[in-house]
Amino acid sequence: QRQLRRDIGPEVCQYLSELSKKVIAEAAPPESEILVKRALLERLEAISKTIVPDAKLIAFGSLVTGFATANSDLDVIFTGGDRVDILNESSDDPSSNFRIPMLLESKLQEEGFGTTLLTKTRVPILKLVQKATEQSPYELQCDIGFSNHLALYNTQMLLTYSKCDPRVKEMMIFIKWWAKRRHINNPYRGTLSSYGYALIVLHYLINVVKPPVLPNLQTFPVPDSAPTNEIIFEGDSDDTFEIWFYKDIEKLPKSDNAMDIGELLKGFFEYYAHNFQWGREVVSIRTKGGLMTKQEKGWVAAVIKPGRTENSEVKNRYLFAVEDPFETEHNVSRTCNGPGVNRIKDEFKRAVWLIRVRDGGKTLFQNLCME
Ligand code: ATP
Ligand code: MG
Repeated sequence: QRQLRRDIGPEVCQYLSELSKKVIAEAAPPESEILVKRALLERLEAISKTIVPDAKLIAFGSLVTGFATANSDLDVIFTGGDRVDILNESSDDPSSNFRIPMLLESKLQEEGFGTTLLTKTRVPILKLVQKATEQSPYELQCDIGFSNHLALYNTQMLLTYSKCDPRVKEMMIFIKWWAKRRHINNPYRGTLSSYGYALIVLHYLINVVKPPVLPNLQTFPVPDSAPTNEIIFEGDSDDTFEIWFYKDIEKLPKSDNAMDIGELLKGFFEYYAHNFQWGREVVSIRTKGGLMTKQEKGWVAAVIKPGRTENSEVKNRYLFAVEDPFETEHNVSRTCNGPGVNRIKDEFKRAVWLIRVRDGGKTLFQNLCME
C-alpha cells in the first residue's frame, strides 16, 4: 500500500471538520424541498398514467441514497407499457421512434413543464423543469429515464454503504458540494457525474484509508451467506449483470477506523492528488483492493460506437477510468474529456495546497468551496 503523506498537523483536520460541518448544514436540502420533490413525483406518475395506465415512476439517485444537496435533481425511471412502444426500434419510420417519451413530453408541456427529450443518450431521457411558484419556492429539475434498471440496484448499494457508517453520507455531501462549486461535476460538459464522485469516495473508504471505514460489500466473505447468483438482464442487449452485494449490514462489525471527517477528507484529497495514477489505474470498487489497470481492462484507446438513433454516436473515453460496480464494461467517467480530467486533477491539487496553508484555517474556509 502506498503511504499517504503525514506532514500536516492535526489542527488542519480540525479546520476541515469544522468546515465540513458548515458545508453539510448548508448543502443538505431542507425537509420542505424533499416533500415538494415527493409531491412532484406523485403528480408526474398521475400524468404518466393518462398515457400508459400501468405506468410507474420509481425514484433513484440522491433522493433515495440521502446524498442530495439543495437543488439536486430528481432521478426517476418510467416503467410500464410495452418496451417496443417506448423504444420502437423495429419501426423504419424515425419519427415514430420513442413514441411514449414523445407523448409524455407533449403532455407535460400542456401541463406547463419545460421539457427537453434527449435521444442521443444511451437510453432516452426526458428532462423537465418545474418553475418555482409561490406555493413551491424551489425550481425542480427532473430526469425521467426509460430504461436502466441497473440504476435502481446501484442506488440500493450506495444506500447500503451509507447505512454502514454515518461518515459515508457526510463525505458524499461534502465532496458533491465541493465538486459542484468548483464546476467539476458536470457530465454534459466534460467532467464527472455525482455518481462518479460517489464511487471514488467509496474506493477511498473501502480500500485506501487504514483501517478501512467500509468493508467491500461485493466481496464480503460471510460463511453462511455466500454470494447467491443474483443476475439481471438489462435493456436492449442479452447482457446479464451480477448484482449481488451483502445486505445484512446489522451483522457487520463496526469499523476500527476512528478518524473524524476532517482527517478523512484530507486523506481523500491527498490520495487523488498524489497517489492515484490517473493514466494507468481504474477505480473498481467491486474488486479486492479496489484497483485494476487500464491495460487489464483493455481500456486504452477511445472507442466510438454507433448510438441508438441515426447519426448519433457514443464516445467511450478512458482518460479517467471508474468502473461501474455492476455494469463492468461501463466507464462511469467516460464523460470526462481531456480538459475536464485536467481540471479535476487540478482541483484535487488545489484542495491539498489549501489544506497546507497554515493560517488558522482562514484560507481554507474562504477558498476550498469558493464558487
Ligand atoms: P445529484 O444530487 O447531483 O443529482 P445523484 O446522487 O442523484 O446526485 P446522479 O449523478 O444524478 O447522482 O446519478 C443518479 C443515479 O444515476 C446514480 O445512482 C446511478 O444509478 C445513475 N448514474 C448516473 N450517472 C451514471 C453513469 N455515468 N453511469 C451509470 N449510472 C449512472
Ligand atoms: Mg441526481
